[in-house]
Amino acid sequence: MALHLNDSGLIKTRAYINGEWISSRNSISVRNPCDSSLIARVAKAGCFEAQHAIDSAYQALQPWQAKAAKERASILRKWFNLIMESQEDLAKILTAEQGKVLAEARAEIAYGASYVEWFAEEAKRIYGDTIPAPSSDKRVVCIKQPVGVVACITPWNFPNAMLTRKIAPALAAGCTVVCKPASETPLSALAIAELAHRAGIPKGVINIVVGNAHEIGRVLTKSPLVRKLTFTGSTEVGKSLVADCSTTLKKTSMELGGNAPFIVFPDADLKAAISGLMASKFRNSGQTCVCTNRVLVHEKIYEEFKQKLTSTIKENLVLGHGDREGVTNGPLISQTACETVDRIVQVSLAKGAKLELGGKPSRLGVCFYPPTVLSDVTNDMPAAREEVFGPLVSLIRFTSEEQAIAIANDTDVGLAAYFYTRDIGRVWRMGEALEYGIVGINEGIISNEMAPFGGIKESGHGREGSKYGLDDYLEIKYMCMGGIDD
Ligand code: ADP
Repeated sequence: MALHLNDSGLIKTRAYINGEWISSRNSISVRNPCDSSLIARVAKAGCFEAQHAIDSAYQALQPWQAKAAKERASILRKWFNLIMESQEDLAKILTAEQGKVLAEARAEIAYGASYVEWFAEEAKRIYGDTIPAPSSDKRVVCIKQPVGVVACITPWNFPNAMLTRKIAPALAAGCTVVCKPASETPLSALAIAELAHRAGIPKGVINIVVGNAHEIGRVLTKSPLVRKLTFTGSTEVGKSLVADCSTTLKKTSMELGGNAPFIVFPDADLKAAISGLMASKFRNSGQTCVCTNRVLVHEKIYEEFKQKLTSTIKENLVLGHGDREGVTNGPLISQTACETVDRIVQVSLAKGAKLELGGKPSRLGVCFYPPTVLSDVTNDMPAAREEVFGPLVSLIRFTSEEQAIAIANDTDVGLAAYFYTRDIGRVWRMGEALEYGIVGINEGIISNEMAPFGGIKESGHGREGSKYGLDDYLEIKYMCMGGIDD
């Protein structure tokens, strides 16, 4: 499949190490999930390239951290500008390799860039402390310094933004990075590396290797030169990476799986709740870690909500190729992803759920699954236990606030939760009782660069974005000065 870009120089197919594009003997085929057509072959990196990337990042560390914060900020700002100038081309690359519709791809580029802009600004605000000393002949001062070389491993669902969310704070803090994007979607990562190069980010500060996840992962986690690993992906892989990092005691940030409840109380504005649910459930065809996974509806409004939701889906969602006019939902990332959603639907039906809409793989292609609604779901069914990562709405009935909280919290993960009510007391009670890192209150879209994104429990640790996002890339050094008294 040919990609028609204004700037064909953004299609990069080799590893980016020490400011150079490095080829290799083996390659990875990048395919469009709509029809499996080949988009490009990308050089497949292995242990050797991963080590080369680490060494380059280590070499680049001292000069990069020695730059004035203002200079780092201004280089990052240039990168932000170049990304936004190439928004359309980057969106086309993203849609081709990932499948999301163009409008969402454009939004992801802007969202991803917003982290670069934000952390360009925050780079200048890495403040330390002076602390009252315990005796008059001492002074106590704290400074914050970059952790060092950071390894960034990112998934395919947001191939641009998940990477900028890591690279931007790392660079702002004075760290250098080695990134391993998902093999399904490496072109978005390599394109922004090209723009980083053009923005004047010095060689070795950003390195990108695409290849065998286990091989590269092992080199990154074992290397004593890598002082931090930041990962977005599944809880299972996150746990094994944390275990692997323990041998060198690296700092880790983990953005892992979610199982977001979306709770609708009888006093909610139903129209707002349905539009919030449509946004939080169907964005990227349900393939985000903050996507609604379970919809808890109070028994008093359950039937009405179900009818309205089902007709809204029928009237508004159009499945198809992401680059076609009028399409709202693209394919899932792979045939396996479709099969997983279908298994979850079928097992839940066998356990007593009722099919209201969809429920069969689409004829459009092996990666397409239609918007599906199940009612009478209970919290023990796969539709409620597993992270679906697809366009499935599972409706669960509840009768009281206490029961809603118990169902919502009955999961090992805790990333995002949503609820709709107009009762101000309930807003506080629910907001405090939900065991989640992010809570949307009468709101279905909660991600932005100004807010701390991250989960609790098995959704991981660390925060991305906001004034807190830099802390994950900084060490606090305390300096005690003595001999002050005459
Ligand atoms: P997903 O289900 O979203 O594909 P994964 O956790 O499998 O989530 O993948 C997220 C990222 O982690 C991808 O870049 C993938 O290649 C990488 N990855 C998967 N397994 C490993 C591993 N053992 N070591 C390092 N990276 C891994």
